[in-house]
Amino acid sequence: AMHEAPGAATAGTTARAAPEAYDTQALQRLDSAHYLHPFTDHAQLRARGGARVMVRGDGIYLWDSDGKRVIDGMSGLWCVNVGYGRDSIADAMHRQATTLPFYNSFFNTTNVPAVRLAALLAELAPPQFRHVFFTTSGSEANDTVMRMVRRYWDVMGQPQRDVIVSRHNAYHGSTMAGASLGGMAGMHAQGGLPIPGIVHIGQPSYAEHGQGMSEAEFGIKAAGWLEEKILELGPGKVAAFIGEPVQGAGGVIIPPPTYWPEIGRICDKYGVLLVSDEVICGFGRLGRWFGCELMGATPDLISFAKGVTSGYVPLGGVLVAERVAQVLIEKGGDFNHGFTYSGHPVACAAALENIRILRDERLVERVAQETGPYLKAGFADLTSHPLVGHAETCGMVAGLDLVRRKGSSVHDGERFDPSLAVGMVCRGHMFDNGVIMRAVGERMIVAPPLVMTRAQIDEMLERIRFCLDLTHADLR
Ligand code: PLP
Repeated sequence: AMHEAPGAATAGTTARAAPEAYDTQALQRLDSAHYLHPFTDHAQLRARGGARVMVRGDGIYLWDSDGKRVIDGMSGLWCVNVGYGRDSIADAMHRQATTLPFYNSFFNTTNVPAVRLAALLAELAPPQFRHVFFTTSGSEANDTVMRMVRRYWDVMGQPQRDVIVSRHNAYHGSTMAGASLGGMAGMHAQGGLPIPGIVHIGQPSYAEHGQGMSEAEFGIKAAGWLEEKILELGPGKVAAFIGEPVQGAGGVIIPPPTYWPEIGRICDKYGVLLVSDEVICGFGRLGRWFGCELMGATPDLISFAKGVTSGYVPLGGVLVAERVAQVLIEKGGDFNHGFTYSGHPVACAAALENIRILRDERLVERVAQETGPYLKAGFADLTSHPLVGHAETCGMVAGLDLVRRKGSSVHDGERFDPSLAVGMVCRGHMFDNGVIMRAVGERMIVAPPLVMTRAQIDEMLERIRFCLDLTHADLR
């Protein structure tokens, strides 16, 4: 197959050698014969002719095995914050792998990249954080949160505080605890979840629950569901509350500005630990190092993954505020928890270089001051399209709703019959025409690499508009 030229290399990347040709159908046959994919209906995948094979990335662009170039509007899976093709991250990993590819942090040992990364994260995180526990993924980070929170309350002499409150439609991962902490009905329906000790309250979705209220009023009301749940369970029963600053996988649900401060107030009032799941929102996605800074919340634990290495290699972890860390350190003894790859030297080396790039290129500030506002204006413009009912943006995350008929507010208008799968149809057009968006029902989402320039935002928006037209034409 012929391959399109990669175009102008973005800062920090070098031009690649001529790409090899791939036999897409042979790869698809092997894929179908042997590979079980995450969150995939394999019968449907077969029916559509097999998986798209991604072979290469550079900056905000990906190439598939047929040489087709697409804008990666989703940063892989919300993670490639510094963009593809960063040789310096690969070099840092290579250096570490040839020096010390692995050693564990059990048994009174440590390693250089893990120490340096722990210290750097303590510097970047909000001031209450001085300590970090490393994992390999966001799911493991949230499992760690659950075990650590329970251990904390045990050590505090309140073992009856063992319930964690989360929210419907939250996403916190796919392990038993992660999927249970999450509030995805489809996940709970498979395998008897949630596990005991996890309860859910409503999500702060103004569109879903806020009719007849101002956004500010709704934020207070939605946070109040936490207080109601605490009182229902008994105040001494609740160990922690966990939430994503902005719900990602649930459909880019941006809470009203009143929500997180009120959640913080309620947690303080009842002595409940506050956990911010920053697996998506951390490392610049919302124009702050951590999303909780933008939301006006002061968490006790932060789970992170994805953007810490921009996905170049798996790494996650939990930042632990001193209030909790000092109890575990001084009174906790052994915490019988840890992973072979906790503090993996190659992953930590990748993270150090990734964070150097985020800092040196001022990518977090750029999202706050330049590209985030530009994306916001662009998505606001898209609401002039006949299919787009509503659009909202926070930093470099945006969502828009496809509607049959627009209303005067987010609460009226007419939705599509879900059986039409309009979101999936739209997503198909997007991919065929060079931009990756995600569909959550009829909500279309982007979370592009933080390196995306204004010109590239324009290029993405132009393609999105074109594909909205195609989707609109399909419906007539
Ligand atoms: N938490 C949030 C908010 C996420 O978005 C994700 C993944 O998308 C996870 C946790 C789970 O992370 P992982 O897939 O690395 O286990």
